[in-house]
Amino acid sequence: MDNCIFCKIANHEIPGKIIYEDDICMAFLDLSQTTDGHTLVIPKNHYAHILEVDSQTLAHMMEVVQKVALQLQNQLHAKGFNIITNMNEVAGQTVHHFHIHIIPRYDQHDGFEAHYLDRSQDANLDDIYQKITGLK
Ligand code: 5GP
Ligand code: ZN
Repeated sequence: MDNCIFCKIANHEIPGKIIYEDDICMAFLDLSQTTDGHTLVIPKNHYAHILEVDSQTLAHMMEVVQKVALQLQNQLHAKGFNIITNMNEVAGQTVHHFHIHIIPRYDQHDGFEAHYLDRSQDANLDDIYQKITGLK
């Protein structure tokens, strides 16, 4: 896709620090390096986000995520990972070419914070469940 920075990296039109590559996908270092080894896995074809990508490509990408995470664990001694994808601006997506972040974790104050608000006292679980499952 024209003007897509990740298509350009996938096509080797602009450089990237590539850790893994095959015919379907590629893993390269995220410029921001939230923590050391912060890596993105992208499909070579352009899909805007996770709901657009076909299931075969997605399954293959998750295998690559696992491989790269193992490599980061071995080489950088990461103690854990946050593996996330952001979909659309509302969720913080800034590059609209599907990608999976692999964020190695070294300790709980290493620069990345996943903060989930606890709404268990206020949320109506029954109501939400019924809406999702079509019972309401
Ligand atoms: P998003 O916010 O869309 O989930 O994540 C996009 C990520 O792409 C950001 O973490 C950002 O640092 C990274 N990024 C943006 N442009 C480039 C680039 O040209 N090269 C690399 N390696 N990473 C990029
Ligand atoms: Zn693209």
